[in-house]
Amino acid sequence: MTEPISSSPAPGVSSSTRRATRQVIIRHGGRKVVVGGGAPVMVQSMTNTDTADAIATAIQVKELAMAGSEVVRITVNSPEAAKEVPAIREQLDRMGVDVPLVGDFHYNGHKLLTQFPGCAEALSKYRINPGNIGKGERREDNFAQMIEVACRFDKPVRIGVNWGSLDQELLARVMDENARRAEPLDAQLVMHEALVTSAIENAERAEVLGLGRDRIILSCKVSGVQDLIAVYRQLASRCDYPLHLGLTEAGMGSKGIVASTAALAVLLQEGIGDTIRISLTPEPGGDRTREVVVAQELLQTMGLRAFAPMVIACPGCGRTTSTVFQELAASIQGWLRGQMPIWKSRYPGVENLHVAVMGCVVNGPGESKHADIGISLPGSGESPVAPVFVDGARSVTLKGEHIAEEFQAIVANYVERRFGAEEKKPAQIGEPA
Ligand code: SF4
Repeated sequence: MTEPISSSPAPGVSSSTRRATRQVIIRHGGRKVVVGGGAPVMVQSMTNTDTADAIATAIQVKELAMAGSEVVRITVNSPEAAKEVPAIREQLDRMGVDVPLVGDFHYNGHKLLTQFPGCAEALSKYRINPGNIGKGERREDNFAQMIEVACRFDKPVRIGVNWGSLDQELLARVMDENARRAEPLDAQLVMHEALVTSAIENAERAEVLGLGRDRIILSCKVSGVQDLIAVYRQLASRCDYPLHLGLTEAGMGSKGIVASTAALAVLLQEGIGDTIRISLTPEPGGDRTREVVVAQELLQTMGLRAFAPMVIACPGCGRTTSTVFQELAASIQGWLRGQMPIWKSRYPGVENLHVAVMGCVVNGPGESKHADIGISLPGSGESPVAPVFVDGARSVTLKGEHIAEEFQAIVANYVERRFGAEEKKPAQIGEPA
């Protein structure tokens, strides 16, 4: 055991600086996704289809990529799944989807990566869980086999420790070391220490086996918010590998979103974290892309990145008893996000646009003036008109049955006028992936 665990921010990390890390590049074809080394915090996601079903998996990967996932992870859990990975890659390439694929390996990754070289080659990165690749010497051999494949195909890896599958031999060793301390740590801190030690020791072993230091990303996922914060602060203070952040088993719906945001926001604010995944459990039949939207909104509301225009909307109250403004806020938000696949290249910078949709005259005009473009709808008892504000100045006043359509047209014209001219600027061509 090295240093005792501290729950305070990692040394040298403040809210205004990003933690200095090595840079890892994940490639597919001409696409390069950069992690760490000052690159923007990258958003990734994971499929929940059966990987052996190549078509269903390729379709879901495409959906996640279209939603904005910059890397997509797929489980590779069986020979049938490994056999289909090249077909998934080919199908995606045929559809023009160049998002890099990450293979998630547990238990049998050493066999699958060595027996299915087409799978090893088609993947852009491997996730290795050092807690479930065997015991004793067999564990060492299995790990070495996977690292050897990564070296041979020049692929980066994530050494992804998870407290649900922590290496029990290492945990026992850390507990023994703790028992010999003059002042032993409590059980929770020993668990934290074991997680961090597992990640760092396995990364160092991968380097000894020949994997470049710039090919390694680490994660130590737990399901408790305070545990995650403490573990990542410690991990950040003890290495310079880029870190993948995520609260594992975050849960469903608002609970999952709140728990993930609570944990990740604290760490990101301290400059810790180079790529994030929000592990939401979808509602039955729910949309898997929700985890991508939540990850983007987390980064955007923190001011770390911008992905799509933001809609500022008031919560509504007794001053507005109709649902008109709620419907307008929802429709304009959905419409703006839906335009982004095209707008991203056509209107560089449009992702920084702020649109306000407000329910009444109390805060409506003020908030609308602060936005790039805003509308203040009439509350109960107010004159049935909706003033529109553009760049802080009152523009037109809408009324009647078609306020939503007219406001959308005003926003579309504004976007064309303000961002359209940027299209031909050479500096905007070839944005970093
Ligand atoms: S802007 Fe008006 S409708 Fe919206 S919350 Fe404030 S007072 Fe209520």
